Amino acid sequence: MYDVVIIGAGPAGLSAAIACRAWDLHVLVIDEYPKPGGRLLGQLYQEANGEWWNGLEETKKLLKNATDLETEIRCSVSVHHIEKTNLGFCVHTNKGRFNTENLLLATGAAETPAPIPGWTLPGVMSIGAAQVMSNVHRVRVGKKGIVAGINVLSVAIARELQLAGIELHSMVLPAVNSVTKTAGNPKLVMEGLIRVAHLAPSAFLRFGSKFAKADWVRNLAVQFYPSGGVKMWGMPIDIRKAIVQINGIDQVESVTICKVTPDGERIQGSEETISVDFVCIAGGLYPLAELASVIGCPFQYIEELGGHVPVHNEQMETPLEGLFVAGNITGIEGAKVAAAQGTLAGISITRRKLQDVADISDKVVQAMENVKSIRRDAAIQFHPGINEGRAKMEKAFQAYEQVM
Ligand SMILES: Cc1cc2nc3c(=O)[nH]c(=O)nc-3n(C[C@H](O)[C@H](O)[C@H](O)COP(=O)(O)OP(=O)(O)OC[C@H]3O[C@@H](n4cnc5c(N)ncnc54)[C@H](O)[C@@H]3O)c2cc1C
Repeated sequence: MYDVVIIGAGPAGLSAAIACRAWDLHVLVIDEYPKPGGRLLGQLYQEANGEWWNGLEETKKLLKNATDLETEIRCSVSVHHIEKTNLGFCVHTNKGRFNTENLLLATGAAETPAPIPGWTLPGVMSIGAAQVMSNVHRVRVGKKGIVAGINVLSVAIARELQLAGIELHSMVLPAVNSVTKTAGNPKLVMEGLIRVAHLAPSAFLRFGSKFAKADWVRNLAVQFYPSGGVKMWGMPIDIRKAIVQINGIDQVESVTICKVTPDGERIQGSEETISVDFVCIAGGLYPLAELASVIGCPFQYIEELGGHVPVHNEQMETPLEGLFVAGNITGIEGAKVAAAQGTLAGISITRRKLQDVADISDKVVQAMENVKSIRRDAAIQFHPGINEGRAKMEKAFQAYEQVM
């Protein structure tokens, strides 16, 4: 019987484990990946202050802290079911069952697919897969590629691919279809692009980012978007072009792209063929929250958090007694916020377990403040209305409590 089982050894799960172990709780961390670190393992980008965020180094630091505290971490263990028991929870995995009084879900996020005709050809991959192959496994994903989908994540990963010496022709949109309505709309994409301007400032984007909140400025920016795209690190980012078809017989050989109107409609006759041997598709991220659903946790759909999110309060507690959540399962944000949420969840779990420990409630309040201040200073912000999203969730939790 564990005091807490933590599912997910990313920044949220590891930080929570460290917080719990600091109070000597009996902790087990489980992850289905062969090594701990989660999505942190692939991250590499330069922050506005010029410092580099190196996910591998950050993982090493977290692991050292966890190991110094003799934390039990089991990798290659996949959770497929969770049961509520009289004493807490029973976690079902491919390596047996684990009983625990408290449970923390820190399962992260998954990528939203953006289907394009020809996307089943070898050589087509999600942008996250390209990140893992190049930054984690050190495998070249191809010689020359193109990115379909322009968002905070794809811009950051495209830069990482460039740093790995991989040539990218450009970043364009996926053509609009019933699934890619948002990802293929230049006006909506512009909103996101402005938010990463500080990562690779260009005069055009810097100008735009100052007025990012005004619709008319965004519309103008889309209307007069430079033909040939705006260059970031020498690579064209073109929100007025879209991939309509991926071509090849046994593998990717080329893509057909065309110009699009500010609303994403194809401009007939503007098609051109670009030779590439790989295509990265970037449709965005959503919280990976199935396990919370399996166990009967209520959900709330909040666009600003990335979709359907388990209901939880600011202390990372869900309405199910003993069930906590932290990191991207609660909404899509960067790794620093995920780690801060993990620490907060760890302290909240400790409070539930040890109750009478002096100052523990003060520590919860401090950890909540820490999450907010890290969120305020975050270099990467995936959704513009993250604070509104968090406020909506707090209301949803309160409403749920009143009903109970
Ligand atoms: C493809 C991708 C790329 C990203 N790249 C960046 C980036 O470059 N910069 C950035 O700031 N943010 C990036 N993010 C966002 C990223 O999710 C956060 O930065 C951060 O890693 C979230 O931390 P987390 O601990 O919540 O989840 P994660 O780091 O995703 O860790 C979750 C862990 O849970 C494990 N897990 C999930 N389900 C199960 C299960 N059923 N059984 C066992 N283990 C399970 C996973 O294997 C994973 O290791 C990316 C996200 C994705 C999906």
